[in-house]
Amino acid sequence: MPHQLLGLHHVTATAGDAQADLDFCLETLGLRLVKKTVNFDNHGVYHFYYGTERGAPGTIWTTFPYKGRGVRVGQKGAGQVIATAFSVPAGALDFWQARLADTGVATRRDTARFGDDVLRFDDPSGLWFELIAADDSRAPWTGRDVSAAHAIRGLHSVTLSVRALDATHDLMTGVLGFTVTAEAGNRTRFTAGGPGPGHVVDILEDPAAEPAVNGLGTVHHVALAIGSPEEQVALREDLLARGIAVTEIRDRSYFQSIYFRVPGGVLFEVATVQPGFTVDEDLATLGQALKLPSWEEHLRPSIEAGLEPIVYR
Ligand code: ZN
Repeated sequence: MPHQLLGLHHVTATAGDAQADLDFCLETLGLRLVKKTVNFDNHGVYHFYYGTERGAPGTIWTTFPYKGRGVRVGQKGAGQVIATAFSVPAGALDFWQARLADTGVATRRDTARFGDDVLRFDDPSGLWFELIAADDSRAPWTGRDVSAAHAIRGLHSVTLSVRALDATHDLMTGVLGFTVTAEAGNRTRFTAGGPGPGHVVDILEDPAAEPAVNGLGTVHHVALAIGSPEEQVALREDLLARGIAVTEIRDRSYFQSIYFRVPGGVLFEVATVQPGFTVDEDLATLGQALKLPSWEEHLRPSIEAGLEPIVYR
């Protein structure tokens, strides 16, 4: 019996400039900053979590802004999430195309993907973003000047590139509880925990793709959601039994995580739904204060001194 993943939890990228990242995600995309913290594996760098009101699993985009800290520019390719798609209401793409043009962001209408219209653009770090017009009942965040008729509902899907699909396909369907729900050309659509946006992983099989290089402007990993710590332990033991190198369970304050690479080379995380982003601040003020993991709180003065100043509203 495969384990039952619930769909996407979050997507995490290595970004460039912290201020440009905030400006783009908050002012242009209209997302909510649901947590301002540091990279738990390198507290010299911010970790921004963006989402809808409470940062529910499946709505979260996160960045490590590494500009000026000796990290090379990455290269998209095989073994990586190459594009991240957000879901917007049907008919909203004209609004977004005009809004992005107003801020100098070039966009391109892609051919419809499995019946849904797609708008492509790059974020300030060169990450490939898409907006996909889809049926999506999730409540948007409308705290900015983007109305509910247009606002982002959360993640729609990620697109992975692999050189050979077979072994990754078998792990997705045989262990992680995904089902193949569509195929077109070299794109195979896997869904888990439901059929719609927030539950979708698309995999492109491209034998000629150059290997990805991790670095600025590339996605670091995709996290899938799992319902309970007990299920996470069971999945971890199963992965180990199958010879897949998986990390110990790591405390990320807002969820517990394990990490492993799928056969196609992409780094996956499996994160628990609980406790969520309200564990250390109120819903109304999420993202306002710099939050640190409890075990680094005693280092706060030096950590704050090492982070670049940022402004946002
Ligand atoms: Zn993560």
